[in-house]
Amino acid sequence: ITTSGVRRIQSLAPRLANQIAAGEVVERPSSVVKELVENAIDAGSSRIEIELESGGSRLIQVRDNGSGIEHDDLGLALSRHATSKITSLDDLEGVASLGFRGEALAATSAVSRLELYSNTSDDPVNGWRVVAEGREMAPRLSPAPHPRGTTVTVRDLFFNTPARRKFLRTEKTEFNHVEEAFRRLALSRQDVDLVLRHNQKTVHQLMGGNSQAAMEKRIAQLLGRSFLENAIHIDMAATGLALKGWVGLPSHTRSQADQQYFFVNGRVIRDRLVAHAVRQAYRDVLFHGRHPVFVLYLDLDAHGVDVNVHPTKHEVRFRDGRLVHDFLFSSLHRALAEVRPNERTAPEP
Ligand code: ADP
Ligand code: MG
Repeated sequence: ITTSGVRRIQSLAPRLANQIAAGEVVERPSSVVKELVENAIDAGSSRIEIELESGGSRLIQVRDNGSGIEHDDLGLALSRHATSKITSLDDLEGVASLGFRGEALAATSAVSRLELYSNTSDDPVNGWRVVAEGREMAPRLSPAPHPRGTTVTVRDLFFNTPARRKFLRTEKTEFNHVEEAFRRLALSRQDVDLVLRHNQKTVHQLMGGNSQAAMEKRIAQLLGRSFLENAIHIDMAATGLALKGWVGLPSHTRSQADQQYFFVNGRVIRDRLVAHAVRQAYRDVLFHGRHPVFVLYLDLDAHGVDVNVHPTKHEVRFRDGRLVHDFLFSSLHRALAEVRPNERTAPEP
């Protein structure tokens, strides 16, 4: 404070700036899992293994067999606004990767004990390890064997931000959030092998495959057999738009909107326009207070959708919202109209 009583302006120390920014990206263990698995997917991995202890508050480890990170980039990977995924505004407007903000690793490492192993070669001895712990800003690099790919280990999430740590719920609740994030990721990329372990137990083990049968098997494992037994398969296209997936029969609804998965260009989203189109399509066939189930994939040109709306990227903005809404509504409406009337009665008990 100066003699005039006005507080002086100071730049925040990078670590503090990262901790503040972490508030937007890292809410709980499931957010870390989402970000790390998205990175693994962006790196072209065909197999991703997730290991947790204590709902993720003690340990989150994500191991992939993707491209790895070049030695000279390892320090940058952990710093804020550093990304290999875009270099210009043009890139952003057509972005196809899940990440592009260059924030997740910086934010996570600011609020946990983070270790990263990576190797871009097929010889395991060429691996490197980076640690970012405590107040240290410059990450330390040392040689460490690792197969091609990357492993990120996040221990003691929020250990240095007690106010945040207090918001963590029970181990079971946190794990449930992680499992839901896992379901979304697993449904978004059926071609990738995915393993989820919690406290040394395998909870999910999914083999990747591109066939319809592989996808149905995956859905059954993630959402239960009854999902597909009571769903209509959809495969529709219009100019520049494609919609695929499954929507539940009006007779197979739920009391909560907890089995609704909507992907836009491989990214799970929550969108009011989408929700509205679905509600309209079901309007005449659904009982009050019941919610339909669906797993739907909408694909359109990347330029037709803005994904840079929110740090978690769960929201999007469609360039032509009207067109998307009407296409969704008419596709679902048509599919539901083909259902036999006796399948349109009474909700399940
Ligand atoms: P973003 O994903 O938005 O680029 P991140 O902070 O999540 O930002 O990651 C920073 C950079 O680190 C990425 O752009 C990528 O180059 C590299 N990276 C992170 N995780 C991986 C991974 N699992 N495999 C290969 N590269 C990775
Ligand atoms: Mg990322």
